[in-house]
Amino acid sequence: MAEKICVAVRVRPSISEESPSGTFWKIEDNRISLHKLHGTPISGLSYAFDHVFDESCSNSKVYELLTKDVIHAAVDGFNGTAFAYGQTSSGKTYTMNGSLNDPGIIHRAVNDVFQKIQMISDREFLIRVSYMEIYNEEINDLFAVENQKLPIHESLERGIFVAGLREEIVNNAEQVIKLLESGEVNRHFGETNMNARSSRSHTIFRMVIESKGIDTGSGDYSSSDAIRVSILNLVDLAGSERIAKTGAGGVRLKEGKYINKSLMVLGNVINKLSNGAKQRAHIPYRDSKLTRILQTALGGNAKTSIICTVAPEEVHVEETKGTLQFASRAKRITNCAQVNEILTDAALLKRQQLEIEDLRRKLQGSRSEVLEQEILKLRNDMLKYELEREKLEMELEEERRSHKEREQRIRDQQLKIENLSSLVSDGDRSSSQDSMKESPKDECNDFKTPCFKETSNNAFVAKRSNYSELPDFSPLPDSFSNVADEDTWFKMNKGYIADLDSLQTTPARKVQSFPPQDITPDCSNDNYKLELQNLKTQLELVIKEKVELQVEKT
Ligand code: ADP
Ligand code: MG
Repeated sequence: MAEKICVAVRVRPSISEESPSGTFWKIEDNRISLHKLHGTPISGLSYAFDHVFDESCSNSKVYELLTKDVIHAAVDGFNGTAFAYGQTSSGKTYTMNGSLNDPGIIHRAVNDVFQKIQMISDREFLIRVSYMEIYNEEINDLFAVENQKLPIHESLERGIFVAGLREEIVNNAEQVIKLLESGEVNRHFGETNMNARSSRSHTIFRMVIESKGIDTGSGDYSSSDAIRVSILNLVDLAGSERIAKTGAGGVRLKEGKYINKSLMVLGNVINKLSNGAKQRAHIPYRDSKLTRILQTALGGNAKTSIICTVAPEEVHVEETKGTLQFASRAKRITNCAQVNEILTDAALLKRQQLEIEDLRRKLQGSRSEVLEQEILKLRNDMLKYELEREKLEMELEEERRSHKEREQRIRDQQLKIENLSSLVSDGDRSSSQDSMKESPKDECNDFKTPCFKETSNNAFVAKRSNYSELPDFSPLPDSFSNVADEDTWFKMNKGYIADLDSLQTTPARKVQSFPPQDITPDCSNDNYKLELQNLKTQLELVIKEKVELQVEKT
């Protein structure tokens, strides 16, 4: 059944003492509008949402009204996602993590899930959790610091998943809270500027809820064989401030350095989705890690709620407008959630079923508490074993790939050497024809003993000078205009420069740019020798590189 994404706005209490001098945000029911100081609303700046929470609203109320349904549906087998969007210091983390007195959405959700499954007596549940951070377009595991830069994979069985991410099977809320706390510590570890990092990174807490009907012995196997699997994502997004400034659609390239790619792509995805069904075929989920991971939550099979946090202060009016515009677009998205029932081995519950049954039988007679602990331990061991195997498979694949690449590089170098040496020997032959008396031995010495004259380097640099006039930013094709994360930008620039270098060392180009017949007879010999010298130096370098590659390979 198609249903709209649930969108709410939350205004945090004012931090500054200053009273507004020109405008303020007024909240009436589910509407928020910008007003002139003495009461009149400013036209065009009034927005309605599913809920608008004012500064006095507690996390408990936000949870009850906005998120609870999503969480309960997740226990029943529907995918669910709740995320907080807004500028830095508008209250995203406060909403998701909460305070001691007023726990946030994550804690409440975790408690709620376990409370709810306690009440369901005809199904057995298996719950596992993971916690990750996307920082500079890299996925890091917050449960295991050693798991960094994890790749996203897709398989028929598992759908889209973060490979190598630690998952922990849990059977009570306290366990999850402890894990989350350790995750926070990992996040802080080694970070000097935690605030800057948290405003630029996204954190995703994920629960996978599997359940299966308990076999009542009635012989009705078909119903107890199907396993429900749902994924619940609770997401604290990076600060949206820079996106809002330029509008989610048209971020300018020169500001690319400061823009968080995932967040920008999220804006683009929401834009496209809000444009209706026609354009759904071209949703750029793959353009960022965040949107790829949340793909089903955005315009797919999931129940989704978004809480957009805003700051009430007048200095933030522009950012707030940006957030409200994002929220308005998100409100137009429809999702189509359905219970995920599967029969394949993709369900961990299914894969673990036999072993668990076996253990249960063995432990029969021991106290139920011990039994529970033993089973949990076994389940986690089995899961770890699976994840370990998956990681090894990945590494093996990676190793195979890079091995292939190395081989290719060696072949390329070989080709280069052949090209260069034929050039050098051609050159030597013709130059020795021109100046037999000067260097009669050059011919046989050509590239076994290249001489290193000081001038050769200078000449090489001089030849490059026409390239150094190029602008020092990459001429990006249009399709790249959306890709402007700091690191991506950096890599792209580097990539460009590296390409330039390889262009210049292509022997064919050298010959073209320095044709011997263009040179006047007087200086031809000198120039030509210089050129030859250059080639020899390059050849030397290439041979060195090749040897290095071969050493690396063995
Ligand atoms: P963000 O995660 O969006 O950068 P934070 O959640 O860290 O912002 O909030 C910034 C500050 O404002 C924090 O000190 C937080 O405790 C406080 N704050 C935010 N929202 C509320 C709220 N609804 N009630 C009380 N304090 C809040
Ligand atoms: Mg925060």
